[in-house]
Amino acid sequence: MDSKTDTRLFLLVTAGRLLIFVLLVMAGAIFPGSFVGEVRLSYLSCLLGCAFFLTLIWIYWFQKKGLSDQLKGAQTVTDVLLATMAVYLTGGILSRFSFLYSIAIITSCLLGPKRAGTRSALLSTLFYAIVCIVTRNQAPSLEEAAFTFFLNMAAFNTIALLALSLSKRLRNVEEKLKDTTKDMHLLEEIQRHLANSLRSGLITVDVNGRILYYNIAAHEILGQVVTNSYGKYVKDLIPGSERLLSSCHGQSATGDRRELGLMVNDKKMILGISCFKIFDHMGELLGHGLIFQDITEIKAQEERLKLIDRLAALGEMAAGLAHEIRNPLASISGAAEYLGQSGLVMPEGQRLLSIIEREAERLSQLTNSFLLYGRPERKRSETVNLKDEFSAALILLKQRKRLSQAVVEMDVPDDLEITVDGDMLRQVILNVLLNAFQALPEEKGLVRIVATSTDDEVQIEIEDNGLGISPETLKKIFNPFFTTKPEGTGLGLSIVHRIVTELGGNIQVNSEPYTGTRFTITLPLRKEKETPPEKEILAYEAASSLSARNLSMS
Ligand code: ADP
Repeated sequence: MDSKTDTRLFLLVTAGRLLIFVLLVMAGAIFPGSFVGEVRLSYLSCLLGCAFFLTLIWIYWFQKKGLSDQLKGAQTVTDVLLATMAVYLTGGILSRFSFLYSIAIITSCLLGPKRAGTRSALLSTLFYAIVCIVTRNQAPSLEEAAFTFFLNMAAFNTIALLALSLSKRLRNVEEKLKDTTKDMHLLEEIQRHLANSLRSGLITVDVNGRILYYNIAAHEILGQVVTNSYGKYVKDLIPGSERLLSSCHGQSATGDRRELGLMVNDKKMILGISCFKIFDHMGELLGHGLIFQDITEIKAQEERLKLIDRLAALGEMAAGLAHEIRNPLASISGAAEYLGQSGLVMPEGQRLLSIIEREAERLSQLTNSFLLYGRPERKRSETVNLKDEFSAALILLKQRKRLSQAVVEMDVPDDLEITVDGDMLRQVILNVLLNAFQALPEEKGLVRIVATSTDDEVQIEIEDNGLGISPETLKKIFNPFFTTKPEGTGLGLSIVHRIVTELGGNIQVNSEPYTGTRFTITLPLRKEKETPPEKEILAYEAASSLSARNLSMS
């Protein structure tokens, strides 16, 4: 028995005992006629006083040691003694209160230990026998006295047997209940542990959609949104979940998997979420479970992969097309040049020839850009000094006519080196710098170049105070052929994006119209990449006769 049950039982027995003796005294005072012989109220009151006194002792004992076997034994003996006194004082062998022995026997059976009931029955028989012997003269005859005694004795022992078997059953049931409760706690623990070791968020709701439980992963994914949300409607936390719940409701097992967007800490989050039903052992629907993952990053990755796929397809097509155009273009250029030098063309025709040459040059630049875009990934690692690369690029750019004469601030450590495909890095630097210069105002143009490094990566910032990019345009600048310039190809930044991705880095843009633009490029300091099949590189080399650097700078 646990201490709670002990306390309850002890209090019940103690209170019951006092009540019986109080009633006994009251009955003696109110209905003296119902007692056999003369009622000695003072004796009965003394008996009640004894009961109170013993109760005080038992309470003290109980508080000190709990419901020990000694306390139970002592109570059994004193209960039988009190019953004996009561029977003796209320008529001895003829007393109507011999049932008090039965109560003492039942009490000791309930309190235990195992043999207490038997002992109590024996003790009751013994003391009752003594009372009967002492008061036998009050019985009309000896036979009647013996009959009364044997009748009561049989009753005591029958009650003892019954009470013992009942208390045994009670104890068995208690034991089973204890085991079942223990198992249930264990099961609950296992379930909680399982739910918390899930990497997916789990929320269970009742049939009305109110939250009953959420696991640790749910808290990690949804953060404060889910804190202390027990009893709240799940639709208030995850808008759209109510549709999922109702679709799940109509199906036999689980609902469809859906994607739901929600705002968590002012950030848009996409949840991949599915629903399942929860039934009790009778097959009654108890509620639903929602299982979900944060797929925001996966979705973004998917979008990036789609873009990369699109770019790769375009690149292949562009390379093929550019290759086909280059030879006739070279013939057109050559023929125009020959005609110009041959003197066969009139002076006004010379102007047209120069247009042909200029436009052929522009087309050649475009096709070369296509070829660069369709270039297979390759790795020709070399260690380059970043500051030297920027200085070389700036010299090249400043030679270009029509580029604004801007102030250039460069904050790149002298010894910052990066192991990378040099040609690719130059393409990135040149394209981003070229755009920056082209965007600058006529006057007070400023280009800032800052590079910093950690153990693993280098971060390059190229910032201008040019015309900036509108949010609408910003979404498209990495798309091939997107340009806002009358003579632009729209391939510069898509080439940059592709190269940076191939090098294992990433590129970000921050821009505000009429304020300026900042490109932030992060590259790993060392990048181990697989070299593509040699055949592919050779094919590319064959297709492109000009070096990547010259292509973009021509
Ligand atoms: P192109 O330079 O041939 O137009 P890009 O791919 O290099 O092609 O650039 C795409 C577009 O991005 C540009 O047309 C321009 O609108 C925008 N852009 C790129 N860099 C800048 C910049 N630094 N400032 C303003 N706009 C820019």
